Amino acid sequence: MKLFASDIDNTLVPQKEELVKEDVRELEEALAEAVDVKVAYISGRNFSLMQEVLANYYLPQPDFLATDVGTLIYFFDGEDWKPDEDYRDHLALTGYDKKELEQKLKEIPGLSRQEEEVQTEFKLSYYLDLESKQDSLPRIRKAVAESPAQLIYSEDRVKEVGLVDVIPEAGGKAGALDFLAQKSGAEENEVVYAGDSGNDLDALSAGYNGVVVGNASEELKKNLSDNDRIYMAENDFSRGVAEGVNYFLKNRF
Ligand SMILES: [Mg+2]
Repeated sequence: MKLFASDIDNTLVPQKEELVKEDVRELEEALAEAVDVKVAYISGRNFSLMQEVLANYYLPQPDFLATDVGTLIYFFDGEDWKPDEDYRDHLALTGYDKKELEQKLKEIPGLSRQEEEVQTEFKLSYYLDLESKQDSLPRIRKAVAESPAQLIYSEDRVKEVGLVDVIPEAGGKAGALDFLAQKSGAEENEVVYAGDSGNDLDALSAGYNGVVVGNASEELKKNLSDNDRIYMAENDFSRGVAEGVNYFLKNRF
């Protein structure tokens, strides 16, 4: 294994329960079995929320962070985290035009821009009023499909609002994973990605080895049930990830 990459929320770190130090130790021990493995976290979190989770939990030290749904990549140069300019250039070359997209989405009812701190050069984020969803979501899909962009839609059940991210087609979790695999010199079968929900589906179906944690959504499990690159863990959260890493170390590498 040359690259271990993972989602964070509800894959490594439970959102409702306490994360126990012993659970993470299993993952550290599993990764210690792999020689020269690079570690990456790929998440919807922005850089400061990513730093917060690294400071508050005991996760294995990462080499790369892909933040803001894979629209930004940072690497650790031994002293500091630096944005990866090659990835920035790679996304800039895709023709993703934020201004043009904004113009197209401007007139759609129920759509309002999220706070400035979540907007990045390659991510346009909106709230969608759920009452407008039925009419507006297909219009958003259509506008995005006309551009080299992709729509990532989810819902915040607590705030009862739709969350719309419009990012480059080549970005996203799978795009960031492809870039990091190439950067790490890893072949498809030398990469393991772990996830728990629908927004991990593209990365888990990109041809690499994948771990689906025990607590993952039933829908994700169903979607990947015929994929022989996927290991369905019995354990939840980081213990499930460790179980998957151990499986691939024994069976594939
Ligand atoms: Mg997750």
